[in-house]
Amino acid sequence: MASPLHHVIIGSGSAGFGAAVTLRKGDPDCRISMMTMDSLPFYNRYDLPQIFQGRSDWRDMLAVPPTFFDENRITLRRHNRVVEVDGVARRIRLAHQETVGFDTLLVCSGGRAYVPENLTDKLPLMHGMGSYEAVMRLYRDLPQGGHAIFIGGDMIGIDLMLMLVKTGYSVTLITTPQTLWPHEVSDEKRGKILAALADKGVTVVDSARPVGIDAGSDQGAARVVTLEDGTEINGDVVVPACGLVASVEFMLRAGVDIERGLLVNPELGTSNEAIWAAGDVCQIWNDEDKVYQFCHGWKNVRIMGELAAGNMQGTHRDFDVRVEDRIDLDEAGNIVSTFWEH
Ligand SMILES: Cc1cc2nc3c(=O)[nH]c(=O)nc-3n(C[C@H](O)[C@H](O)[C@H](O)COP(=O)(O)OP(=O)(O)OC[C@H]3O[C@@H](n4cnc5c(N)ncnc54)[C@H](O)[C@@H]3O)c2cc1C
Repeated sequence: MASPLHHVIIGSGSAGFGAAVTLRKGDPDCRISMMTMDSLPFYNRYDLPQIFQGRSDWRDMLAVPPTFFDENRITLRRHNRVVEVDGVARRIRLAHQETVGFDTLLVCSGGRAYVPENLTDKLPLMHGMGSYEAVMRLYRDLPQGGHAIFIGGDMIGIDLMLMLVKTGYSVTLITTPQTLWPHEVSDEKRGKILAALADKGVTVVDSARPVGIDAGSDQGAARVVTLEDGTEINGDVVVPACGLVASVEFMLRAGVDIERGLLVNPELGTSNEAIWAAGDVCQIWNDEDKVYQFCHGWKNVRIMGELAAGNMQGTHRDFDVRVEDRIDLDEAGNIVSTFWEH
C-alpha cells in the first residue's frame, strides 16, 4: 500500500490554517505538518488591538480550541523556525538542524513589518505589533494614558491607533510614503483620511521624515524621535507601521522564483511543481496586466490558503486577483476600508 502523502505547511496564520483544514477535508488519510514560529495556535491577528480593551488572556484569542489540531490530525509544531528549503530533495531544514521531508510544500510565511532603511539599526528601540506576544509587550510597556508614536500609518497601524485613542492613550502619527498601505490613493483622498484621523484625536505629523530614534533618560520620555528638520518628539513607545515585506529569506536556496514575494501562477503554484505559496508571502500573476501582484487582506489570504490546498490535491482553480481595494470616509467621518473587512 502506498504511504500517505505528506503535506508540509510553513506558517499557521490565516492562509496556513485555511489550507490545513482544506487538505484534511480533501483527504482523510494524508499527513499534514504545520511549522510555525508562533507560540499560540491559530488566532485572528486583526483581534489583537482588543488587548487594549482588556482582552489580553491568550485563551480568548484562539480562533479554534487547541484540541482542534489533534482532532483533525494536523501536526502543529510551534516555535519551529524553518531556515532552508531544498526544492530538489523535497525537504525543509529547521533551525535546530532537524530536516523534514515533504511530498508537497505550501509556504504561508506571511510578512514582517517593513522598517525604513535609515531606521533599521533602531529596531531594538521599537515595538512591533505583528503577533500576540508583540502586542502584549506594547501593552505592558505603554503606561496607561501614555504616548505612542507611529511611524508610517499603514492600515494595520491605523486600526491600532484608533483603538489606542479610544482607550485613553495619546497617539502621534509620523507619515511616510507607506501611509495607508496597502491602499494607494490620490493626494486629495490621503489628505481627507489624515484629517479624519486628526478629528479622532491622532496628532498627524505629515511630510517630515524621521531620521533618529533614541532611548530617553530614566526621568524623561522613554523614546525620542528626531525628524529631519531637527524637531524632537517624546513618547513612551515607537511603533513601525510601514506595511509588510514578505518573509522569504529561508526560500532563497529553494530554487523557486522570487521577486519581492514568492512568485506564483494563478493556481498559486511556484516554479517548482511540489511547492505552492499563499497569503501575504506570495505575488500572484495577473495575466490581464502582465504583472505579479500582492493581494493583501484577511479575506484574500484565507481564500488563497484554501484554494492552494485544493489545487495541491488536484483541483485546478485560479485565484481572482481583481480584489476589491477601497478606502473612504462614511457620513460620520469614520474610515471605511476593504482591508478591515473580515
Ligand atoms: C495587529 C494586526 C491587525 C491586523 N488587522 C488586519 C485587518 O483588519 N484586516 C486585514 O485584512 N489584515 C489585518 N492584519 C494583517 C493580517 O493579519 C495578515 O494579512 C494575515 O495575517 C496574513 O496571513 P498569512 O497567513 O499570509 O500570514 P501570517 O498570518 O503573517 O502568518 C505567517 C506565519 O508564518 C510563520 N513563519 C514565518 N516565517 C517562518 C519560518 N521561517 N519558519 C516557520 N514559520 C514561519 C509565522 O510564525 C506565522 O505563523 C492585521 C495584522 C496585525 C498584526
